[in-house]
Amino acid sequence: MATTREAPPKYKNDGGNVQILCPFCEPSHPIYPHKISACGTLLKVAAVQTVYPARTLKKAEVVCVKCGKPGGEMVAYGRGFVHVQECNPERKLLAEAPTYSEWARRVYNMPNWLRGWLERFTGAATEVIELDGEGRETGRIIGYYFAEAKRGRHFERKHSQADAG
Ligand SMILES: [Zn+2]
Ligand SMILES: [Zn+2]
Repeated sequence: MATTREAPPKYKNDGGNVQILCPFCEPSHPIYPHKISACGTLLKVAAVQTVYPARTLKKAEVVCVKCGKPGGEMVAYGRGFVHVQECNPERKLLAEAPTYSEWARRVYNMPNWLRGWLERFTGAATEVIELDGEGRETGRIIGYYFAEAKRGRHFERKHSQADAG
């Protein structure tokens, strides 16, 4: 049976554009995800997260930012942690600040019939509420933005000085 070999790709900085190159060929050539090169190389793209074991988290008395409960495996989320398994579908955490807009705030506060009609074009006007490190809502509304998904409650973690950058 055939096996595969894996190697970190080479990079070429082409005036600000970084090209990813085949590590097996000399001279090399660009490689792409979802497209096998003549030499058989495919660029594998993977999203990787570190999962922290329940025991370690328990010792550190960590609670999940999403559900506020301890126990189970979690991944890091900002300076806090969230459960690997969906534990609170009501709460959508935003890992990145969306593009807040005053227009989204106005649409959000419109009468439901008008809001619903406008949202067909703008996406769902969504309020973003701040969470502290323990997953408690601070009560502060961070802003409003148009989400592509349907309406729901969205949350952003409180930013502290240590998060800067
Ligand atoms: Zn190659
Ligand atoms: Zn949780």
